Amino acid sequence: MKFEAAVLNEVGKPLAIETLEMAALAPGDVLVRVRASGLCHTDLEVMQGSLAYPLPIVLGHEGAGIVEAVGSGVTQVAPGDHVICSWNPHCGHCFYCERDLPILCEPFSRHQPRGLLLDGTTRMTRAGAPVHHYSVTSTHAQYTVVPESGAIRVSPEIPFDRACIIGCGVMTGVGAVVRKAQVPAGASVAVIGCGAVGLNAIQGARLVGAGSIIAVDMGAEKLARARQFGATHTIDAKTADVVDAVKSLTQGRGTDYVFEAAGNATIFRTAVEAVRPGGEVVWLGKVNVDDEVSFRWGSLMGERRIVRSSYGNARPRRDFPWLVEEYLAGRLMLDELITRRIRLDEINDGFAALARGEGIRTVVVFD
Ligand SMILES: [Zn+2]
Ligand SMILES: [Zn+2]
Repeated sequence: MKFEAAVLNEVGKPLAIETLEMAALAPGDVLVRVRASGLCHTDLEVMQGSLAYPLPIVLGHEGAGIVEAVGSGVTQVAPGDHVICSWNPHCGHCFYCERDLPILCEPFSRHQPRGLLLDGTTRMTRAGAPVHHYSVTSTHAQYTVVPESGAIRVSPEIPFDRACIIGCGVMTGVGAVVRKAQVPAGASVAVIGCGAVGLNAIQGARLVGAGSIIAVDMGAEKLARARQFGATHTIDAKTADVVDAVKSLTQGRGTDYVFEAAGNATIFRTAVEAVRPGGEVVWLGKVNVDDEVSFRWGSLMGERRIVRSSYGNARPRRDFPWLVEEYLAGRLMLDELITRRIRLDEINDGFAALARGEGIRTVVVFD
């Protein structure tokens, strides 16, 4: 079948809307008619070249849609189901899957960086030549093929534009707090960086009943938004010393948890200084993979822990339906995260705005 997709042909160049061909489904495949797909910073990193992937490639790893068809052996979803895609499909039985670390799943780790599906091939072609799949999802397209473990059935009550952002930004932020750090009720939490992931860490802290939730960013507008998502205190990093300000709100100790969601080498260091002895720092942000990140050795003394979380310990088949229920019950804020809706042919404009740091989430909506 033929379908339209936004294709990255060259790093640093705009995406091209092109007609591609999808091969017949293999066993275990799920064909999804994509209805909405968010623009995430990680897609932009591939476009700008700080994350290297084989080209041409179809980006987009935060999508929701309707199952159109399934390959043989698929039992978890059926045509007509509403699904959110997971960008970390996993085999379920390798060394890491058996140790409850699907983010390290061996077939996923082997094929994802090569732009392939978990069987080591592509389904998408252009004039007979393979087109790569980004993170086994490729949702900036009218249709995509994902493995069964990457198609998560959810309630059809949630609109697709709201559903799609659960697949990356929401899971990453809420999951870091609820699943990775397992922040207990009453704990003190600081979140540095209040973009999409940081705001979701803030609302994750609100969901678990954290005692104080301190949001750190620059500028009144971002901090007002952080309060809307659940922050109890805010610190403007433009005018305040962040470590001093966090300590002054926590009897001089620092918070029980610090979530770094800014992706900045200086902030990594600040995060380690702002957590109390015995506390935990969770690094959510990213810098270029070869960059060095430094901190003062003494800041680790006092039994502090540094943890990396890339997908919030997601177990998508457990977590996506739960997050949808939280939204439908009015406890998870998704409407407020979407600051712009665009068509697929407006996607370059959407990424340009993301590069300028505008808005929270832009979502491509397919008619
Ligand atoms: Zn993402
Ligand atoms: Zn595995």
